[in-house]
Amino acid sequence: GFLILIKLIGDKFIADLSQYTMTTLSFSALPENNNVTDMKRWNEKSSVNTVKPISNILIEDMNRQPVVMLKMEHSVGHMPNIINGQSLIFITLISFLFYMVYRLVSITIIKPVRELASDIKNQDSIEQYGQLNEKYAVQELITVSKNVNELMFTIHKQNEILARQVNTDQLTQVMNRYGLKMELDKHKDQCIRLNVGFVVVMCDIDHFKQYNDDNGHMKGDETLFAVAQLLDQQCKRPSDTCARFGGEEFTLLFSEMSENNLQRKMEEIMTAMETLNIPHSKSPTAPYVTVSLGATIVRPSDVIDYALATDEIFKKADNALYQAKANERNGFVINYFTSNK
Ligand code: GH3
Ligand code: MG
Ligand code: MG
Repeated sequence: GFLILIKLIGDKFIADLSQYTMTTLSFSALPENNNVTDMKRWNEKSSVNTVKPISNILIEDMNRQPVVMLKMEHSVGHMPNIINGQSLIFITLISFLFYMVYRLVSITIIKPVRELASDIKNQDSIEQYGQLNEKYAVQELITVSKNVNELMFTIHKQNEILARQVNTDQLTQVMNRYGLKMELDKHKDQCIRLNVGFVVVMCDIDHFKQYNDDNGHMKGDETLFAVAQLLDQQCKRPSDTCARFGGEEFTLLFSEMSENNLQRKMEEIMTAMETLNIPHSKSPTAPYVTVSLGATIVRPSDVIDYALATDEIFKKADNALYQAKANERNGFVINYFTSNK
């Protein structure tokens, strides 16, 4: 009966069972001498004390007579093959696809974004505004760089306006005293480095208090503006400067000039004032608004180092102006910063 059962189970079933349990099962006849006394029986309860790679179990009939022997050989226990050739190709393809997507995103987005960020940072240090690259594969990046360029350009323009305002006198629109100091420092620097002297001219409107009294403060402001513009036009070279020193006083800075040329320049200014001809009927000097000029010539040997006090130079020019005022006004006096040279 068991043999029939075993037959019914079939070779295929046994093979499958072997595969899933990782055990080689086989049936065989009893040993020839029928010596089965110490062999384990199918229904026998036993505690597993030892692990044996091969076990023989006797299968008995109804009368508990052994009829067949079941041999179980435990395999070495290989792991089932999870990754076969197909899945390996699939995994390789997926990995390659991921890599390609990453490369694409990296080239078109990550790398350009990094470059853009570092370009923006660099712009600030080199102060080159509106110079960002606008050629990108991604439209959004083009928009960002264009907008940043526009923003930088606006900031640059506003900075220029602010810088000009900081250095500009609001009423006369010429340089203010702060700007004048900067320009004088530049001349001192050129004196030291390039051996180029300069000239400082103090210019004061004559009888301006009287002018205000006669024409009102508003008209006085207009005249201040007109005189400032006239003086500014006399500063023709880029290094020449006209600044409002304060009140109705202006300062002119000229790069190195011979005494003769300076004299001519002073005369030019006075002639220009005459031509401008702003009426000043009660002026004891002339029927029009006049100016007095005091100039001091600074030679390179005067500026040994930056320690040469700016105030000293202005004071020297003021001395010349004082003399010009003493000499009936509407005139000029020239001195040298160091007169004994
Ligand atoms: P002097 O020939 O000796 O220079 O006589 P002055 O009257 O020009 O000199 P003073 O220092 O006595 O007077 C300067 C005048 O300049 C007095 C002041 O009202 C005028 N003033 C100074 N700043 C301004 C200004 O911003 N606007 C106007 N309208 N007047 C000013
Ligand atoms: Mg004055
Ligand atoms: Mg005056």
